[in-house]
Amino acid sequence: RTVYLNGEFVAEHDAKVSVFDRGFLFADAVYEVSAVLNGRLLDNAAHLARLARSCQALSLRLPCALSDIEILQNRLIAENNLVEGAVYLQITRGNSGDRDFDFPGESVTPTFLMFTQARALIDHPKAKSGIRMVSVEDIRWQRRDIKTVGLLAPCLAKEYAHQHDADDALLTENGLITEASSSNAWIVDADGTLITRPLSTHILHGITRQALLELAKQHGIRFEERPFTLEEAQNASEIFISSATTFIWPVISLDGKPVGEGKPGGVAAKLREIYVQMAVEAASR
Ligand code: PMP
Repeated sequence: RTVYLNGEFVAEHDAKVSVFDRGFLFADAVYEVSAVLNGRLLDNAAHLARLARSCQALSLRLPCALSDIEILQNRLIAENNLVEGAVYLQITRGNSGDRDFDFPGESVTPTFLMFTQARALIDHPKAKSGIRMVSVEDIRWQRRDIKTVGLLAPCLAKEYAHQHDADDALLTENGLITEASSSNAWIVDADGTLITRPLSTHILHGITRQALLELAKQHGIRFEERPFTLEEAQNASEIFISSATTFIWPVISLDGKPVGEGKPGGVAAKLREIYVQMAVEAASR
């Protein structure tokens, strides 16, 4: 694989970052993941806008203009002949030559890294089979709206899920579901209304979440943005998760008990179909 690091396209084994990089020592870094379909970036303007917002929230300097980042993303896609998958990008506060909590001065430049991941998005088996989830306490920090690389809590949540015979975890806080470990969470009530948590510092402002709300509006699917409890999720007719690289995956069990009839739900399937159609169209223009 060719990766991008600080202005250069190099073979992955030639890309080196200092042990004093603040991304490595302090998780002082932000990231983005944009889906690639038919060799084309999906909803990338929204991902880059969120990147700028994350950087701003942390007084982290963007390495270049957003339009230049997109040019680099597209060049990396071409270098790797990526058809379907994702482009990961990360910006750290750079290497100040020692371990020091204080922000370095202006002379220290950000570290800017990008790589591609080939991956099935449209025909992913989990999209059909659905996934099993467990609930776990959300122990993340209080600015989940900033997309930082401090991802130990979600790693622990996924490991807990795997040890409990599940694929992934739904995170709870004060009896409410915040989101999933690396995606937004949705439930469908008995009337077929979509429910997902409103934007706040408690959740990541998912780009896919926003796109799905727009599509629901266009297609006359009822939705509510409001907090919902673990108990509501347990009793929901459907649960599903959304993210840039999963689109929508249905959830078939929660804490070992079936969701609805224990099969992928019809509302999630319909919404996924609408989303895929929109994405395929956008990628063929
Ligand atoms: N929440 C969390 C915690 C995530 O890690 C992600 C995926 N990056 C999402 C939600 C989904 O966001 P998006 O739709 O922008 O991929």
